[in-house]
Amino acid sequence: ADSFDEECDYLFKAVLTGDSGVGKSNLLSRFARAEFRLDSKPTIGVEFAYRNIKVADKLIKTQIWDTAGQERFRAITSSYYRGALGALLVYDITRAATFENVKKWLRELRDFGNSDMVIVLVGNKSDLNHSREVEEEEGRRLAESEDLFFMETSAMDNVNVEEAFLEMVRRIHAIAS
Ligand code: GDP
Ligand code: MG
Repeated sequence: ADSFDEECDYLFKAVLTGDSGVGKSNLLSRFARAEFRLDSKPTIGVEFAYRNIKVADKLIKTQIWDTAGQERFRAITSSYYRGALGALLVYDITRAATFENVKKWLRELRDFGNSDMVIVLVGNKSDLNHSREVEEEEGRRLAESEDLFFMETSAMDNVNVEEAFLEMVRRIHAIAS
């Protein structure tokens, strides 16, 4: 059955953020593929996908925003973050520079996003362990000090992708309900 058009109890907006090339769009298409409806607003350079998720007895429609590549030009505007209750902040475990930039993205989320936004720090490309530049422990430590949830994922091998998004949605639900 197509649950996309069922009555929803909540609609949540969440955003993907992090450097270009870390795997945001691949994570999103993994997560949303079951009910994939890629939509875009070319005028403001965003794309989004939806997925309906059951938490407890509530049906939550999650609308997840992705950049259309404009993070490369540091051209993400405050409207991208507005109203978002959750975020996946993604870095690439094989590129230390993307981890160093996490603080910059965090500042943006905190400047423009909801004050109690649920943020999950995601170290993606865990399948490339042989060329790892960021230890899992470093990610975990940063997440702890910044009060974020943490997970390493592989969009390629579909490891922990579901878990990362679902953890975000569950936490948003816990706050919002
Ligand atoms: P974005 O710019 O953050 O949206 O990144 P993309 O989703 O476009 O991915 C950038 C590149 O990384 C592409 O070549 C992907 O195929 C690759 N990629 C994304 N996720 C993974 C992953 O988990 N493992 C590996 N090995 N490659 C990945
Ligand atoms: Mg992308």
